[in-house]
Amino acid sequence: MEICLLPIGSVDREILDFLRDRLKNVFGDCRILETKEIPFSAFNTARNQYNSTRILIEIEPVCDVVLGVTEVDIYADNLNFVFGEAEIDGRRALISLKRLRPEFYGLEPNYELLKIRTLKEAMHEIGHVLGLLHCRNKCVMRFSNSIVEVDYKDWKYCESCIQKLRKRGIILNI
Ligand code: ZN
Ligand code: ZN
Repeated sequence: MEICLLPIGSVDREILDFLRDRLKNVFGDCRILETKEIPFSAFNTARNQYNSTRILIEIEPVCDVVLGVTEVDIYADNLNFVFGEAEIDGRRALISLKRLRPEFYGLEPNYELLKIRTLKEAMHEIGHVLGLLHCRNKCVMRFSNSIVEVDYKDWKYCESCIQKLRKRGIILNI
């Protein structure tokens, strides 16, 4: 399965490279596409945030899964913010690094922490694209709407989620 990472706006290259290496390991193939500009129409002036759904629909589904990665703050309807969004059973997903950075919470930058958080959110949104719903185990498909919940969960799919993927013919290396 080919996963493609699509930088949307300027994105930290070291994080993208890290993500590519880890996802390549899990899914078999992963590459980084050319950077896309952030769609201007997605910006909400009153909120000073970008609408994640509007960014998502601008992503061209050129690989099995295209994961948009952005540094800007994103929100979805009825939610103050989201870490990411995905088309369940589709081809496209999006994550934002903005609220994964310790600096966002007034803490010292911590690259290792940022990397693992980014991996978790990427695995979560890709899981949705592959048809997985939220899971109650300490699994990466556990719902998280706070950074504490992100830090709590594992970066992998649990056995039950791996079984569901296997039934769909998706075999992973984890
Ligand atoms: Zn989710
Ligand atoms: Zn699970």
